[in-house]
Amino acid sequence: MKINKKKKIINKKHILSAIKIYKSPFWMYDYKKIKEKIFQLKKFDIIRFAQKSCSNIHILKIMKKYGTKIDAVSLGEIERALKAGFKGNCNDIVYTSDIIENETLKKVIKYNIPVNIGSIDMIKKIGKKSKNHKIWLRINPRFGDGHNKKTNTGGKNSKHGIWNIKKAINLIKKYNLKLIGLHMHIGSGANYFHLKKVCNSMIKQAILINKKINFISAGGGLTIPYKIHEKEINIKNYFKIWNKSKKIIEKKLKCSIKLEIEPGRFLVAESGILISQIQSIKKVKNRIFVLVNVGFNDLIRPVLYGSYHYISILPIDNRKINYSNTINVIIGGPLCESGDIFTQKENSKIYTITLPIIKRGDYIIFHDVGAYGASMSSNYNSRPLIPEILFKDNNFIQIRRKQTIKEMLSLEI
Ligand SMILES: *Cc1c(COP(=O)(O)O)cnc(C)c1O
Repeated sequence: MKINKKKKIINKKHILSAIKIYKSPFWMYDYKKIKEKIFQLKKFDIIRFAQKSCSNIHILKIMKKYGTKIDAVSLGEIERALKAGFKGNCNDIVYTSDIIENETLKKVIKYNIPVNIGSIDMIKKIGKKSKNHKIWLRINPRFGDGHNKKTNTGGKNSKHGIWNIKKAINLIKKYNLKLIGLHMHIGSGANYFHLKKVCNSMIKQAILINKKINFISAGGGLTIPYKIHEKEINIKNYFKIWNKSKKIIEKKLKCSIKLEIEPGRFLVAESGILISQIQSIKKVKNRIFVLVNVGFNDLIRPVLYGSYHYISILPIDNRKINYSNTINVIIGGPLCESGDIFTQKENSKIYTITLPIIKRGDYIIFHDVGAYGASMSSNYNSRPLIPEILFKDNNFIQIRRKQTIKEMLSLEI
């Protein structure tokens, strides 16, 4: 099980030099990969990066540099976007949510940031405070999809989006809000079987609303091949189906419309790796636990969703790895919680993976962690946030330093 070619982004030599500087653990992103992924979506009129997937300001700056716009889902994310250079009173930033708190409301009014509305209450709240505010409607298409029930964002079990469109339209009229776009995001890791259904739903809703709009958004949810045998999604086909829908809507509403796509994972997942080091190799009855220096406070996806991440190893010394001499191991972290295991399924069942003979001190690398990796980290077990490093033109740039324990405690002192 030599590292698979498909999973190679930054070569061994570079990773080892980065370890010399930053020690493990740290996140590392490949600039080139992010750029390459952005260009794969160039056919869409607008690419809007769902920053919640990787919200580091320096990553947002890369997005900006290559013409990507930004989606913010909190006041903090609006501030990040502004810091990265996105502007308020144009179409750069859209605030998407099902609620809007007072502080956030003040900010979107001050900076004239369009709001993608997901609830009737939100329409009322914005309407009362900001006449003529530019808004989008996030529509619940009444069905959903997603790689996991936690990421399914449509249908009657989803808290997202507006169910009662007629009521929404009446309120928009009452408050004189300016409807500029319609948005549908049915889930992350959507199954393309549903695609036509989503597009048809968008067409139906647009006709029902029957107002001239400027944008429609296909939402996010584009998958990436986490497992070696998984295929990349067919972007051409995805675009074709959406573009056809756009044209139908343009004809029906007699206006010109821009087609947006709003990916998070697709743009950044494959660019990121997480470098950890083996602290202990423990035999427990007939099982072998390999414990590393990152836990689910750093990378929560396996614990939260049962997500799979490809794992490779890097020996600490220059010894030659014998890939035919293997052992089956469970990979776990340092947290004081038995669920702190990276090799587990959605039902929390632990599984083993096959690795060559490893030893304490070797590095374990988690792949495809650029999305929902660092951005979902926490301080659980009072472990500080770890650094984020950008690999660009054969150089390393520290784009987030390690949090100190003092900083962590300072909120309480
Ligand atoms: C999370 C989210 C996205 C991005 O989802 P990905 O699976 O990362 O592409 C896009 N739009 C909205 C509204 C979201 O909530």
